[in-house]
Amino acid sequence: MSDPIESLTKSARQLIEIEQLLGGQFTPAEANSLPEVQLPKQPVRAAGGVAPEDKAAALDEMNENEVKVCTRCGLAGTRTQTVFGEGDPNAGLVFVGEGPGQNEDETGRPFCGRAGELLTKMIGAMGLSRSDVFICNVVKCRPPQNRNPMSDEVEACWPYLMRQLQIISPKVIVTMGNPATQKLLQTKRGITRLRGNWQELPELADSLGGIPVMPTFHPAYVLRNYSPQVRSDVWSDLKQVMTVLGLELPKDK
Ligand code: SF4
Repeated sequence: MSDPIESLTKSARQLIEIEQLLGGQFTPAEANSLPEVQLPKQPVRAAGGVAPEDKAAALDEMNENEVKVCTRCGLAGTRTQTVFGEGDPNAGLVFVGEGPGQNEDETGRPFCGRAGELLTKMIGAMGLSRSDVFICNVVKCRPPQNRNPMSDEVEACWPYLMRQLQIISPKVIVTMGNPATQKLLQTKRGITRLRGNWQELPELADSLGGIPVMPTFHPAYVLRNYSPQVRSDVWSDLKQVMTVLGLELPKDK
């Protein structure tokens, strides 16, 4: 039987962590237990074939010479500019969303609107900054009215994401939301069932198979469903990522 004092301490600690992550006030009744999950095998960097010192140049070249001038799908006709992604070319952690929104289309940077602010906060709660990770989307141009990208658009843009992941060769990928999660994991299962459970990236391209993937809710979904349950779920997912990356979890208060 579990020690009631230890259990209360754990609940209080969890509430503090959630508040640090996303703000807001919580009561113990709203706290959630962390799910029991099976950790993936020890992450090993895939052999991406690009030397660490060459990764930034490889990404820049793809962006400048291919993505910025890309007309492979219809989104080229409605975009203001492409949104390649940004961050550390040698990042151990890559966040992948579905596609740019209006703010991203205007600035050319990923996740820079309200959802981006939340993602930045989430990354900060992990003890990291945006420059420590790499952030990108499945499609590099904004779908009109922020709709989900269509399958032909995803297929057209897919080689860019594959090459980004091959070059960066991360230890862990966090997929955010249904479109990115389902496409990268080649599944029709929904994010609600997948989130919080480690998955392995299929062999989508050379040297990518087996990378641990943690699916979680998209920050835009969190903002639309700003409940203690959803926030606690996301923080739980991120803490699992921190554990696998060997990052220090928040100390007890
Ligand atoms: S979404 Fe991708 S494939 Fe389509 S035009 Fe933009 S960069 Fe090219």
